[in-house]
Amino acid sequence: MPDEPKKRYERTLLVAEAIPTYDPKTKPHRDKVPKEECLCSYCGAKCCRYFALPIDTPDSWEDFEFIRWYLLHERATVFIEDDSWYLLVHNVCRSLGEDNLCTAYETRPEICRGYTTKNCEYEDEWVYDHYWETPEQVAEYAEAVLGPRKGGCIRTPRPK
Ligand code: SF4
Ligand code: SF4
Repeated sequence: MPDEPKKRYERTLLVAEAIPTYDPKTKPHRDKVPKEECLCSYCGAKCCRYFALPIDTPDSWEDFEFIRWYLLHERATVFIEDDSWYLLVHNVCRSLGEDNLCTAYETRPEICRGYTTKNCEYEDEWVYDHYWETPEQVAEYAEAVLGPRKGGCIRTPRPK
């Protein structure tokens, strides 16, 4: 067996031994991961598969037009959490290896260095206060909070 798959297999056996109820197909709770193991080995690299940036809270049609434009792009979404708005882009970091570990660990950016497994999103469900995936959804939201737009609706017409 090649080295890496062998190591993974051995790790699975180690965890299975340490946790009698551990199912390799199911992510173990962080408290169940043996202390000598790294939580990231069980995660699938959740925190390396997107980036999110805060954006201004929209309060005009012009602002919502920007958000509609973001959402016209593949893999872009927008969410609100604790009254703050964010642009979220679902895209895998170029430095993520096939084994879900960082291939640039020594030179990884500061933001990655400051993010530790202590308070990470390992168990987060990625549920937000509000979440939009399409321009139509955000146009509908804008109409609800701002009222009808002068010049007509900006939603994409229904295909004929
Ligand atoms: S830091 Fe947390 S979320 Fe990121 S890969 Fe490790 S366990 Fe997963
Ligand atoms: S540089 Fe490494 S730790 Fe940072 S997001 Fe990319 S793969 Fe993850």
